[in-house]
Amino acid sequence: MPDERAETTGSCYACKRVFSYDPKDVVTFLVDPETGFPPGLTPLGSLRPATPEAVARSVDLPVCPDCVDKARRFGTNPWDGPGTSGPPSPN
Ligand SMILES: [Zn+2]
Repeated sequence: MPDERAETTGSCYACKRVFSYDPKDVVTFLVDPETGFPPGLTPLGSLRPATPEAVARSVDLPVCPDCVDKARRFGTNPWDGPGTSGPPSPN
């Protein structure tokens, strides 16, 4: 392949499926490993202030294109960033 891309593999944050992705292009989701949820989001889906400690220990986890697509279709895309869609709706 002439335009070889630096691909890596990881498991999707949402569905745990292992997929390969380009770290430069992949959609990631900031997750606090202590709670398994993004800093600023409680397990109940409500919002709380994100503490600097939570943000500091949080890691970016990749989300596979399928889940990105699904989330866009159902309108629950917290990984789009703050201010674009509001908090995810509880199902
Ligand atoms: Zn997925």
